[in-house]
Amino acid sequence: MTMPSDLDISRETVTLPLSDIAERCGIPASLTEPYGRFAAKVSLDAVAALSQRPRGKYVVVTAITPTPLGEGKTTVTVGLGQGLNHIGKRAAIAIRQPSMGPTFGIKGGAAGGGYAQVVPMETINLHLTGDMHAVTAAHNLLAAMIDNHLHKGNSLGIDPHSVTWRRVLDVNDRDLRDIVTGLGSRADGTPRQTGFDITAASEVMAILALSTSLADLRNRLGRIVIGFTADGAAVTAEDLKAAGAMCVILRDALNPNLMQTVEGTPAFVHCGPFGNIAHGNSSIVADLIGLRSADYLVTEAGFGADMGAERFFNIKCRASGLTPDAAVLVATVRGLKAHSGRYRIVAGRPLPPELLAENPGDVEAGADNLRRQIANVRRHGVSPVVAVNAFDTDHDSEHRVIADIAAAEGAHVAISSHFTRGGKGAAELAEAVVAACDEPGRFTPLYPDEASLTDKVETVAREIYGADGVDFAPAAAKRLAAYESGGYGRLPVCIAKTHLSLSHDPALKGAPTGWRLPVREARLSAGAGFVYLVCGDMRTMPGLSSAPAAERIDIDEQGRVVGLS
Ligand code: ADP
Ligand code: MG
Repeated sequence: MTMPSDLDISRETVTLPLSDIAERCGIPASLTEPYGRFAAKVSLDAVAALSQRPRGKYVVVTAITPTPLGEGKTTVTVGLGQGLNHIGKRAAIAIRQPSMGPTFGIKGGAAGGGYAQVVPMETINLHLTGDMHAVTAAHNLLAAMIDNHLHKGNSLGIDPHSVTWRRVLDVNDRDLRDIVTGLGSRADGTPRQTGFDITAASEVMAILALSTSLADLRNRLGRIVIGFTADGAAVTAEDLKAAGAMCVILRDALNPNLMQTVEGTPAFVHCGPFGNIAHGNSSIVADLIGLRSADYLVTEAGFGADMGAERFFNIKCRASGLTPDAAVLVATVRGLKAHSGRYRIVAGRPLPPELLAENPGDVEAGADNLRRQIANVRRHGVSPVVAVNAFDTDHDSEHRVIADIAAAEGAHVAISSHFTRGGKGAAELAEAVVAACDEPGRFTPLYPDEASLTDKVETVAREIYGADGVDFAPAAAKRLAAYESGGYGRLPVCIAKTHLSLSHDPALKGAPTGWRLPVREARLSAGAGFVYLVCGDMRTMPGLSSAPAAERIDIDEQGRVVGLS
C-alpha cells in the first residue's frame, strides 16, 4: 500500500472548528481570538483563568543524535498526542513554529508527517499568525535605533565596533551574512560592518519563547546587551529606550497559537528559537496553558537529548519552574545504523540502498548513542521511554535490537507506527508514557545556579557529551571571566555545537570517547537569560542549496499550494 503524500493527507483532513478545539482544552471562547479558519491565538489570561485546574503530566520528546534527515520527534510528538487520546486520555501537544527559511530551503516543512501532522500544512509552514514577522520587526527596530543613536551624536558613548546586534530576516540568504550599512552621504548614516541572521536565531525569538508573562517579556527585552561603551560598560535595549516599543510589537506574538492535528488533537504552535546558539524549544507560555488544558501535554525539544532536552531541562524548566514527568526518546533503525559509522547520510539525497537491507548487527553497532542518550535523560531524574519510530523499510529483527537495548537499560520502550496509522499506531507508546508518568518524579537540573560558568560548561561536556574535558580559547575564557564579574555568572549555559554528533565533530558517530570540547567563543544573551558557547563554525544565516525547495513550490490551477514538503 502506498501512502498518500503529506500534503494530500493534510488537504483531505476535515478540520474541526477551532472553537471546538479550544473547548476540548477547556479554554473559554472569550480567551481565544480566531486568525482565519485554522488557527487561533489564546490569550495569556488563560494562564490565570485555568490555574484552578489540575496540572497535567508534562512529557518532553527528544531523540538519539539525529541524522541530517531528522529521526521523527515532531511526528512522534503529534502521534503520541493522538495515541494518548486514542487510549482515552486527554492530551495536547506543543511544537515550534517552522521557520520559512528551511521551508523554502532544503528541509521542507516541519509540521510532522503522514498521519501524524499538524494541519493545514500551508498555514503552519507559512505565515501562521505573523509571529515570525513580529520578531523580525522588533529585532530590526532595535537595530535601527542603535544606528540612529550612533548617527545622532552617540550620547551613550557606544563603541561602534563593539555592536553585536545584527539584523534578521526569515529567508535563507547567504549574501546578507556580512554587509556594510550606512553607505551614501553623511545624511544616510554611519557606515558600519554588520550582517543578517535568520529570524529563528534572533535573541528576541529566544526571549519570546522563555518569557512567562508580558511583564517578564518587557523586562527581558530591556536586558538585551547590544554592545559596549569605550570603557567596557554594557549598553542595553533599555538604555536605548527601545524595549517598550519592541514589547508593543510583540504583544500579540506572546499569545500561543492553537491549531489541530489530523485527528483533532489540540496543538499549540509557538515560537521557533534556533537549536544551536539558542535553546531550541517552543514557548513556556504555550506549555503553561497546555498543562492546564489537558491531562498530558507532549512538548518537543529540538535535536538530540544532549542538545534540545539538556536545554529543556536546564534552561526552559529553570525559567518556567515546571518539572517534567517523563521524556520520550525517539530512536530509528536508520539513525542507529548511521551511528555504526558505516554509512553516510546526506540531506536532500536518497538513503544509501545498503542501509535499507536487514541488518540488526549494524543497529547494535550504533547503539551506544542510544545508551548514552538514555543516561542523559536519567541524569536529570526523568524516566525515559524509548519510542522506536517505525519506518516501512525497517525489519522486525532490527526493532527487536532497539527494544532489547532499551529494556537492558531499564527504560520503557514501545514501537510506534503513528506515521502510517495515526493515533492507534501509537497506542502502545501512549501506554508506556502513562506508566512512566505514574512513577515518582525527582527532576534534578544538571548544575546549580551558583556553579561558575566554566564549571557549568565542563559539567555538560563531561556528563552529557562524554568529553574528557573542555579547552577554552583565551578569548572565550576572558569573556566568561568578564560575564562572571559583570553579574551574569548565575545564568545557565547553552552550548552551540553540531547536532549530528555527541561531540563537536559531526563525523564522530555513536558515543565518542577520548576527546575534548574546544570552546572558541563565549557570548551573552542577557535578555534570553543564558550564556552561549560557540564550538566550531555555527551558521546563523543558512544559504539555499543548488535545488532549493522554493523551486518546486507553486500555485496550481485551483489556486492551491503545491510542492510544500
Ligand atoms: P524531527 O522533528 O526529529 O526533526 P520529523 O518528525 O520532522 O523529525 O521527521 C523528519 C522527517 O522524516 C520528516 O520529513 C518526516 O515526515 C519523516 N518521517 C518521520 N517519521 C517517519 C516514518 N515513521 N516514516 C516515514 N517518514 C517519517
Ligand atoms: Mg521537529
